[in-house]
Amino acid sequence: MKHILLIATGGTIASKRSDSGLKPLMSSEELLSYVPDIKTFCQVDTLQLFNLDSTNIQPGHWLAIASAVEKHYEDYDGFVICHGTDTMAYSAAALSYLIQNSPKPVVITGSQKPIDMEITDARTNLSDSLRFAACEKAYGVSLVFDGKVIAGTRAKKERTKSYNAFSSINFPYIASIQEDHILFYLDDKMLLKEPLTFYRHLNSSVGLLKLIPSMDASVLDYMAEHYDGVIIESFGVGGLPNYDTCGYYDAVKKWISQGKTVVMTTQVTNEGSNMSVYEVGRSIKYEFGLLESYDMTLEATVTKLMWILGQTKERERVREFFYRTVNRDILWKV
Ligand code: ASP
Repeated sequence: MKHILLIATGGTIASKRSDSGLKPLMSSEELLSYVPDIKTFCQVDTLQLFNLDSTNIQPGHWLAIASAVEKHYEDYDGFVICHGTDTMAYSAAALSYLIQNSPKPVVITGSQKPIDMEITDARTNLSDSLRFAACEKAYGVSLVFDGKVIAGTRAKKERTKSYNAFSSINFPYIASIQEDHILFYLDDKMLLKEPLTFYRHLNSSVGLLKLIPSMDASVLDYMAEHYDGVIIESFGVGGLPNYDTCGYYDAVKKWISQGKTVVMTTQVTNEGSNMSVYEVGRSIKYEFGLLESYDMTLEATVTKLMWILGQTKERERVREFFYRTVNRDILWKV
């Protein structure tokens, strides 16, 4: 029988009602007690790392989760992390960069309703996750929610209330889970050739600017002073305003000369960026050698940049790392 480690970090799944609103208070053991049927297919130990609403999750927590998986890696066949849904897509992406090429599954899950409610998605999500973590064909970091398995770098929370809160962006679902059956759409574990690698550093000095029509570039100057890497969420396939008084061109020129990393991405969720299409994107991209996210999610772009800048700030190496595919995060090849 497969041996799984359940790591609890908080979230709605572990929340109870309090006078000040829903609050994560349940222990990892208590969570497990709501899914007794899993004893038929796996044996589970639990670890309570913290008990937080995921609004309060920061890069240090991602490092702590990855380090717990590393510490216990040899003792278990798979790992399930219970987490709040609000920042779960960021954590799934961050773990994809911190734990690379894992032949054992590392599954992150949570729920829209607490596990102690009569009507809830929590019990299904938790038992589906344990089932997937106990499956021979599963590997790498993924998110399991509402019967779907999503690559850790491809998840996005698209609904605040419904059970089908997460979608896989610009990439197919890996599998679906229907009662005790797992239907794999991508059954490619045999292609995993690279060695398992744990990373222990992130550089959280990464900022994000979402453009709206009419913004001038002074806010970018402020950001460049405070961050090593800046991501600009622009419009459509990507570009920067270039009307007379907006100042973006000069701001970007200045940051690049200061050795900052600038990544362009898009506010549009599906289909990704391609800065080469329009004059407003193409000229600035090639003149300054800007990176762009192409089909990567925002969550993957943010956490990948934190991971890369935690390893190097050397421009060519940053570029090379950025366009290298990790846990299915980018398909576009430049
Ligand atoms: N605020 C909660 C959290 O992210 C929401 C949830 O878990 O669904 O921790």
